[in-house]
Amino acid sequence: METLVRAIGSEGVLAFACVTTHLVEEARRRHGAAPTAAAALGRALTASSLLSATLEGQQKVTLRILGDGPLGGIVADTTASGDVRGYVQNPTVHLPLSSRRKLDVGGAVGRGTLHVTKELGLRWPYHGSAPLVSGEIAEDLAYYLAQSEQVPSVVSLGVLVEPDGRVSAAGGFMVQVMPGADPQVLDDLEAHVRSLPPVTQLVGQGLSSADLARAALGSLQARIVEERPVRYRCTCSRERVEGVLMLLGAEEVESLLGEGRAEVRCRFCGETYVLRREALQEILWRLRGSRPPVA
Ligand SMILES: [Zn+2]
Repeated sequence: METLVRAIGSEGVLAFACVTTHLVEEARRRHGAAPTAAAALGRALTASSLLSATLEGQQKVTLRILGDGPLGGIVADTTASGDVRGYVQNPTVHLPLSSRRKLDVGGAVGRGTLHVTKELGLRWPYHGSAPLVSGEIAEDLAYYLAQSEQVPSVVSLGVLVEPDGRVSAAGGFMVQVMPGADPQVLDDLEAHVRSLPPVTQLVGQGLSSADLARAALGSLQARIVEERPVRYRCTCSRERVEGVLMLLGAEEVESLLGEGRAEVRCRFCGETYVLRREALQEILWRLRGSRPPVA
């Protein structure tokens, strides 16, 4: 079982960490994502998991990375119970490796904006955004957190894609300094994080989420305060698909009925729902609020 941990270090520094190898591989497989797309989607899924660490009950966070690069938009959301899902608009995108022989996620994402929406059970969802600084996602999230939420943060995300296209290691951590903390604390943390091996290497060595949090905090003595499971799981269902068709209205459903069937594919998980004539007829009756008289 993969987990997300929340830890506290000395100086009031917080750390969140998760290992997401299986979760990201599941996403890659479901979307048939090529290596660059898989890395970008995997980083976004891991980032949304990290952002969910402080959620409770029915709360949910959605991360949207809307760049002008070939990938198109990336959407990842995570519930407080650890259900993570997401998609990338163009999952077949793969770019040549960068000059440092790395997957060119920044080039595939391009320039644009990062959006975070938190459904906290209040009347309106919380929404914040910031421009993308590199398209590499970790730096973009750190910039967003500092600019939009005023929380100085260091974020590290990694997805290792094997030559055969499979994801063999993925994970990340986010370290946050209290607003108003001594700037030196953040500088020291940044230097410490830069001195660590890449996240994928740490995960590949078998480090757990808790180990990652400890590594991220280094000499700040991490105390793990919470650990919760995360997994790739979508909330779609036949009922929800029928609900979406209801929103289309009677005319649209009638035209689908004319075609004899409707096929709806969930963008988040790739599940395809086929609605046949009887199901469509039932939806149309519900929309019109009447059934034909019984013969
Ligand atoms: Zn789904």
